[in-house]
Amino acid sequence: MKIVVLVKEVPDTYGDRVLNLETGLAERGASETVIDEIGERALEVALTHAESTPGTEVVVMSMTPESAATSVRKALAMGAASAVHIADEALRGADLTLSAEVLAAALTRTGFDLVITGNQSTDGSGGVMASMLSELLDVPGVTSLNSVVLTDGAVSGERAIDGGTMDTTASLPAVISITERLPDARFPNFKGIMAAKKKPVEVLTLTDLGINPDDFSVPRAIMTAISEKPPRSSGTTITDEGDAGEKLAAYLIENRLV
Ligand SMILES: Cc1cc2nc3c(=O)[nH]c(=O)nc-3n(C[C@H](O)[C@H](O)[C@H](O)COP(=O)(O)OP(=O)(O)OC[C@H]3O[C@@H](n4cnc5c(N)ncnc54)[C@H](O)[C@@H]3O)c2cc1C
Repeated sequence: MKIVVLVKEVPDTYGDRVLNLETGLAERGASETVIDEIGERALEVALTHAESTPGTEVVVMSMTPESAATSVRKALAMGAASAVHIADEALRGADLTLSAEVLAAALTRTGFDLVITGNQSTDGSGGVMASMLSELLDVPGVTSLNSVVLTDGAVSGERAIDGGTMDTTASLPAVISITERLPDARFPNFKGIMAAKKKPVEVLTLTDLGINPDDFSVPRAIMTAISEKPPRSSGTTITDEGDAGEKLAAYLIENRLV
């Protein structure tokens, strides 16, 4: 079985994240970049299955600037057998639909039985990549899985929904996305880091994928305005002089919080 795990490189959530107010893009140089934690969890799902199921091949795939090679190597050090890195400057500022089309083309080229993504990235936060890919690849898509059980021909699991959960199953090939309920990812060990240096990384451009870069000159999603989050205000302090309950209720009503 071939499992392709999609990992995205994002600005480290523990550092300062800066938006370029002219382009609307994340300033990648402003903070350290890392593999998104949810992508690492997705990789952990695949690696855990591979350990108990001989004949499972785990491939990581990332569409990200060329500078992200270190993140791709980290995924290999964690245990993936090979990587596909789609790096093309024409993709700078690619929105979700363009990104999904490029990833779908790369997945078709690489081949897969199962594609695993995170349910939502920590920077773009679109949360729809898995659904878009299942549509473009014309395979079942199951999103927001809290658990994953893989057999030869199917993937099942508990799916998080508003106010509850549901049990789902889909035949393979399929695309799934997973939630943070799945276990933390392993750390790469020394042996893994050394092994990663020799593992194959295929670097692909749009031309390699048979996509005309000129098609990317017209943006489909247009940013009309962007602003930084306002700094946090110090908030309102209510001092209890016997009437704190009334003041609190008045505050909540005034701010339409009840
Ligand atoms: C040169 C270049 C510059 C880029 N600059 C930016 C940028 O400044 N800001 C930005 O947000 N994005 C950037 N991207 C990536 C791309 O635009 C986004 O990945 C895409 O819009 C997905 O949006 P999302 O994160 O909201 O998706 P979501 O639907 O929230 O992502 C869910 C899951 O889909 C998978 N996924 C999403 N995107 C990718 C990806 N690119 N590669 C592999 N797996 C993925 C992951 O598993 C992720 O957990 C850049 C890409 C390139 C090649």
